[in-house]
Amino acid sequence: MTELTVIAAADRPLPVEPFRGRHLIDGEWVESADRATFERHSPAHGILVSQSAKGGLAETDAAIEAARKAFDAGLWSRISGKERATILLKVADLIEANIDEIARWETLESGKPITQSRGEVGGAGDLWRYAASLARTMKGDSHNTLGEDMLGVILKEPIGVVSIITPWNFPFWILSQKLPFALAAGCTCVIKPSEMTPTTTVRMGELLIEAGIPAGVVNIVLGYGQPVGSRMSEHPEVDMVTFTGSTAVGKTISATAAGTLKKVALELGGKNPQVIFPNADLDGAADAVTFGVYFNAGECCNSSSRIIVHEDIAETFVENVVALSRRVAFGDPLDPDTQVGAIVTPEHQAKIDGYVREAEAAGARICLGGGSLTVPGADGQFYQPTVVVGVTPDMPIAREEVFGPVLSVLTFRTLDEALAIVNDATYGLSAGIWSDDVHTCLDFARRAQAGTVWTNSWMDGFPEMTFGGMKQSGQGREIGPYGLDEFLEVKTLAMRIGQTRSPWVRGS
Ligand code: NAD
Repeated sequence: MTELTVIAAADRPLPVEPFRGRHLIDGEWVESADRATFERHSPAHGILVSQSAKGGLAETDAAIEAARKAFDAGLWSRISGKERATILLKVADLIEANIDEIARWETLESGKPITQSRGEVGGAGDLWRYAASLARTMKGDSHNTLGEDMLGVILKEPIGVVSIITPWNFPFWILSQKLPFALAAGCTCVIKPSEMTPTTTVRMGELLIEAGIPAGVVNIVLGYGQPVGSRMSEHPEVDMVTFTGSTAVGKTISATAAGTLKKVALELGGKNPQVIFPNADLDGAADAVTFGVYFNAGECCNSSSRIIVHEDIAETFVENVVALSRRVAFGDPLDPDTQVGAIVTPEHQAKIDGYVREAEAAGARICLGGGSLTVPGADGQFYQPTVVVGVTPDMPIAREEVFGPVLSVLTFRTLDEALAIVNDATYGLSAGIWSDDVHTCLDFARRAQAGTVWTNSWMDGFPEMTFGGMKQSGQGREIGPYGLDEFLEVKTLAMRIGQTRSPWVRGS
């Protein structure tokens, strides 16, 4: 039996000086008033990567006040789309000029492969470019059919101060799914990155200042969900919260934000199935399944951690997936050949393993992996590529986000049966189908309860399209014109031309 493909950690120089992250408040980089800090060690190398100011209520309130003041002063919200686009394009240029350096911080803090970090940072630059194009082209509407003396105008206006709270798994990318769109709309922002990956958000702040963003338009508070994220969700001067993270925290944020009825946009978890029919390109499907489950070590909202395979081909298809899985390069994330890096924390590694052990105890069979992976020279936690068969729809491994490199295999006989399994889920983020019959694909796409459906593909994304979830995978949409709309209020302007209004009070 072939071994797994493991890339040892090379004896390469790692940073000796940790990155010193501070808050960005009203254009100034500041420490916390009480000088509190927190640290992040590399999940793959064990070294100290960053030491960051740990925000409290004072820093959060100051950042929100700065964003409010900047918004009300109109120095961003009332300038032209062209002026906003000019800054956004400069940010895109700066991101692209700093890809390698930013990607290295991203890899050191998150444990993901360096080539993937580079792809993400470069892709983020493209999101900024796209958002710049929206800043110049967004527009409202007009109605000249309301009566001879009436003109109706629909204005689109920035919603105001936006709190942006991001997760650890794609910190630079997810920030770029939100921030340039909020800025294109004319909003001002307060950002809190995850306490596990704060550094690339600080780098983003530095690039924004270099690009000439006015003070107070973008503020960053480093720290934890409590008290920083919670305050950002509750504060009456915040008009909207946009959050990406777990469904559990999303519900808490929604409840907190309800106190002031502020708008909430949520990008949450997923349990995303790929359905494989016998008439599909089965080699292509097997490759996409390995990509879908191992990308970002499975620590991905879009992970296709469950597949539903037609029972006639299930055995050979799984053999193929297992063979491909052995060829996926797991190991040191700083090595450019590595495809799958470390698991974010030891606690999370234990949680992944718990799902596998629980499934095994319930009668499922592990046909590959199923335990921690030793990477020579590394000092962190890694999990083996894992394939679990004989999974039934009721098992937690089939229903919950495992968030690890673990594939659950279920089987079906008819499209209706496959759809019943797909839709029997609390999540509704994405789904995929593999078949050479266009009618089957379309039927599936129409009936699958998911914000995104891929046919004969997995995880293609485009700034021009949109992304978001149904059910408990979230509310609202990101990127594309829909992503911009989230940050805009719509105002109706009804204008009577001349003094033509008939009096309401009789006889006047
Ligand atoms: P998490 O929910 O633990 O944390 C996300 C952010 O919320 C962090 O910045 C955290 O500090 C903050 N937070 C924690 N408690 C808070 C509170 N009470 N109030 C306000 N903020 C609080 O998620 P995570 O572990 O960082 O990320 C993984 C999760 O994110 C997974 O569930 C994954 O599916 C999801 N995710 C979804 C998408 C998507 O687009 N749908 C993308 C990436 C990740």
